[in-house]
Amino acid sequence: MVLSTLATLESIDLQGKRVLLRCDLNVPLKDGVITDDGRIRASIPTIKYLLAQGAAVVITAHLGRPKGERKPELSLAPIAIRLSEALGSKVTFSDEIVNSAKAKGVKSGEVVLLENIRYENAETSKDEGERSALAKELASYADVFISDGFGAVHRKHASVYDVAKLLPHAAGYLVAAEIEVLKKLTQSPERPYGVVLGGAKVSDKIGVISNLLDKVNVLAIGGGMLFTFLAAQGKEIGKSLVETDLIPTVKELLSRAQELGVKILLPTDIIVAPEFSADATPTTVSADSIPADQMGLDIGPETAASFAAAISECKTVFWNGPMGVFEFPNFANGTKVVAQALTSVSGISVVGGGDSAAAVRKLGFKDSQFGYISTGGGASLEYLEGKELPGIVALN
Ligand code: ADP
Ligand code: MG
Repeated sequence: MVLSTLATLESIDLQGKRVLLRCDLNVPLKDGVITDDGRIRASIPTIKYLLAQGAAVVITAHLGRPKGERKPELSLAPIAIRLSEALGSKVTFSDEIVNSAKAKGVKSGEVVLLENIRYENAETSKDEGERSALAKELASYADVFISDGFGAVHRKHASVYDVAKLLPHAAGYLVAAEIEVLKKLTQSPERPYGVVLGGAKVSDKIGVISNLLDKVNVLAIGGGMLFTFLAAQGKEIGKSLVETDLIPTVKELLSRAQELGVKILLPTDIIVAPEFSADATPTTVSADSIPADQMGLDIGPETAASFAAAISECKTVFWNGPMGVFEFPNFANGTKVVAQALTSVSGISVVGGGDSAAAVRKLGFKDSQFGYISTGGGASLEYLEGKELPGIVALN
């Protein structure tokens, strides 16, 4: 992807302008409480810069997948409050998206946050005409469009893609920073280059594995997806998570890795339990002998140590996906050991993925202990898969 023409914030005259800003405020919520505000905090530098330029700022963002319906639990109203706290100044919330009086009346130095843009069916519509109509409405609020919602740039959505065609535009600080890190990971990374992948599903990550296979020196596999790898090796995996339809693809990947001389690290021990529950009794077993009535919920201590050792030898490390069900303290050790190893990488260490970012914070690590914590899960992965990101293409 050619990105040399990505316009920066500084390249555009914002003095006293009305700015439409796309942010990614899609934070995890549990019972209405924000459990990780990383994406809100990551949005602040651009907003502050715009305000310092005397701009009037209208923010558009999404939360979850309301699919065109006004689902109250996916309202951005509570996010407006947290955003205002993080910003240290007032954020006016507009319940209206289309024909918003608050957006129309926004003044220099003020911030208006529009309600969840995905309440509008047109936002995610496949029909370009429908998307353009919404994009026109959003564009009517502003003189300039700033794209800073990195977590959504892989989507061809009205507020991400179509609106960029209607207004002078630039990338915000977050989008610029994310792309720069991704470039470092793809264009001549310092070696050895290690990638650690985990999380729930192989299907989410198969494209990345395939595209990175000939670029990395070592690839470590943990999380729920490791069991599809073990199954591909003909091992017994008990009641563990598995995507049977992907076993042939995984077999192919394993033999390609062998031909390429890429080291694929697979677990040698697993922490299993009889059921998927926080109170389930954990037992460590060999990866060769997972009992039929148990499921694997974390990598074992020997595996964690070997992943950590491999990571510490690397100069470039990209990690996406928790090593186990870190939400349950009994199954968080693998994720913790891997995170710890990343903190001492002498080159660049990047944590990608919403759950991975939330996991390292939940486990007590500070953002500053890592080279970079990406705010984008799908967006980073698609970039690393070698795909074009519509929201970035639109800025070129
Ligand atoms: P990210 O958002 O960082 O890309 P994913 O969404 O792919 O990560 O996966 C995160 C989820 O994977 C977590 O909720 C975690 O509980 C789950 N997970 C990890 N290991 C396992 C496992 N062995 N069995 C079931 N789920 C797992
Ligand atoms: Mg996730």
